[in-house]
Amino acid sequence: MPILLHRPSNRRDFLKTTTLGGAALILAAGRSAAATDAGASEFHLALLSDTHIPADRTEVYRDFNPCDNLDRVVPQVIAARPEGVVLCGDAARLEGKLEDYRQLRAQIEPLAAAAPVFIGLGNHDDRASFRKVFTSPAGTLAAIDGKHVTVIEHPGVRVVVLDSLLYPNRVAGLLGKAQRAWLTSSLPTLADRPLVFFVHHTLGEGDGDLLDADRLFTIVRPHRHVKAIFYGHSHVWELGERDRLQLINLPSLGYNFRDQDPIGWVDARFRSDGVSLTLRAVGGNRTDDGKTFDVRWI
Ligand SMILES: [Zn+2]
Repeated sequence: MPILLHRPSNRRDFLKTTTLGGAALILAAGRSAAATDAGASEFHLALLSDTHIPADRTEVYRDFNPCDNLDRVVPQVIAARPEGVVLCGDAARLEGKLEDYRQLRAQIEPLAAAAPVFIGLGNHDDRASFRKVFTSPAGTLAAIDGKHVTVIEHPGVRVVVLDSLLYPNRVAGLLGKAQRAWLTSSLPTLADRPLVFFVHHTLGEGDGDLLDADRLFTIVRPHRHVKAIFYGHSHVWELGERDRLQLINLPSLGYNFRDQDPIGWVDARFRSDGVSLTLRAVGGNRTDDGKTFDVRWI
């Protein structure tokens, strides 16, 4: 099913935010002065996944220190001046402890001051602990019991960050009945512009993937305004396609599982006809650092 691009794969969790502050509004105004019509509808997001931040900032896994990685990337992201930041799950190291989220919140504070940070939840997160630390998440939260789903509105594209956290620190993920029902009833009403999803879990058929991935594709299939699904979990940077949907597997920022995979983040510029994705690799395989991949909506 997934076709192209990079290398083969495989695993992953989520977070919170601050409302668009004065600084972000000033940046947006500065950009619009030189913006073309196309530029005006562009939505510039920084995409992070699998930060795996532990309470103990000296913790190392596979020779990677997730806290150091995040510290390296925060200034890069701020310098890129995105309009928002999405963290696609596995925000916390393993169990989603309160202390993990406090460490994460402290490290992303400069980022949250510059742009809203939208945090999704993965299998190494804990929804209750997350909500205790990130008490006023950015974006509009969908009214779905027991799930943390964020809707981000932009004139050019609508972004929906889904919640696939089933049990903390178990591998598999699930949207669940309530979230699927929300999608079924909401998607017909959201057809005025392209829509992209973010969800933590991989979309395969394995026991550690999103267990209701096939049902998600069935729900989405009639809705041609849904263009792409971004996900994490595998710690692999890879592009694919299924049912005309573009599938974008974001690299991990915390650590990789294989030496051949990069760790880092992705600078994304959404337009009405697709998205340009620039890999910003800070560790692991850095061969494609700085390379831009243009993905066209079908
Ligand atoms: Zn992960």
